Amino acid sequence: SWTLAERVKALTPSTTLAITAKAKEMKSQGIDVIALGAGEPDFNTPEHIISSAYNSMQEGHTKYTPSGGLQQLKEAIAQKFKTDQGIEYKNSEIIVTSGAKHALFTLFQVLLNEGDEVIIPSPYWVSYPEQVKLAGGIPRFVEGKEENSYKITPEQLKEMITPTTKAVIINSPSNPTGMLYSESELKALGEVCIEHNLLVVSDEIYEKLVYGDHQHISIAQISEELKAQTIIINGVSKSHSMTGWRIGYAAGDETIIKAMTNLASHSTSNPTTTSQHGAVAAYKGTQVPVETMRKAFEERLNIVFEQLNAIPGFNCLKPQGAFYLYPNVMEASKLCGYDSVDSFAKALLEEAKVAVIPGSGFGTPQNIRLSYATSLNLLESAIERIHTFVQSKM
Ligand code: PLP
Repeated sequence: SWTLAERVKALTPSTTLAITAKAKEMKSQGIDVIALGAGEPDFNTPEHIISSAYNSMQEGHTKYTPSGGLQQLKEAIAQKFKTDQGIEYKNSEIIVTSGAKHALFTLFQVLLNEGDEVIIPSPYWVSYPEQVKLAGGIPRFVEGKEENSYKITPEQLKEMITPTTKAVIINSPSNPTGMLYSESELKALGEVCIEHNLLVVSDEIYEKLVYGDHQHISIAQISEELKAQTIIINGVSKSHSMTGWRIGYAAGDETIIKAMTNLASHSTSNPTTTSQHGAVAAYKGTQVPVETMRKAFEERLNIVFEQLNAIPGFNCLKPQGAFYLYPNVMEASKLCGYDSVDSFAKALLEEAKVAVIPGSGFGTPQNIRLSYATSLNLLESAIERIHTFVQSKM
């Protein structure tokens, strides 16, 4: 058999995908599993986007595009930044990529030298540490405490900085916690970043999914100085329910974007042409479906949040954005006689027939993540199943 490269030997497979695969397998055996593991909206892509993409193919746009993306898509993205964040980017400061995930991957590849450190607040999205390691970097975790809504403080950030720290990742709204950093919190973190010359990688993929009075603020909006030190990562996957189209982007420093574009020219060539045409329609067309989907998520959240918290031993902070609930279930696991939340989550799948993602994959082993990107009916049944299961074990 072949000897694999050292760099992939250290890779941990995505826990999210592993659970989802197991749930699918159970389903295919005829077992009635409710899967709350999904990381994608349960709506189809809005019709006007689909027809624009279809028409673009009919019109002959079926060939390569520039590596960094179509000019008209970059312009639409620049316009979006102007409208939503009030910040301006030139086309040369934007790269379109095959999903936000690949924007991050490419960014770390062009940014990190062997041994460079990247500060990753936990709980974190599973791909950050792996992508940093693949680029030769070292992930440095700093725990966002539950009592601080799973967010890190400027003091914590400061303590983590060493001479080899290159960047910090901010993900607001957060996957998995659904929490948002406020303007004053971002300002305070930003001051530390400026003082220590840290690049801010601001993952804003859940920007459009915020609830109640909460508002999404980008750290790049705070000052020109911070904007110059920030690379924004975003995309249409979650906002326009386009996960399968694979269109994301990065915006920021021209030198970094140019290097990323160079790398893309040797790796992906360009993001799928048809998808880029769809993304142009997503940004230039009506935003009504975006708001309709957001409202649907908010309605579900408001209904199931109380039901979830009513389960004995479940302690959940109310999410402010994204589409995940992230309860601390240490107490419930103990009440049910499990020695870890991992085994509790395993039992939820095997016995209660509800698939959730254990928090260990996100760096906080006392939590589980439930996605509410599924119908209200299924959500309510799933929570009822979990409730009944916990009570039966107590
Ligand atoms: N960033 C976060 C925090 C995510 O949760 C996801 C998707 O799950 C992504 C980035 C990647 O999005 P995309 O589908 O555009 O690659």
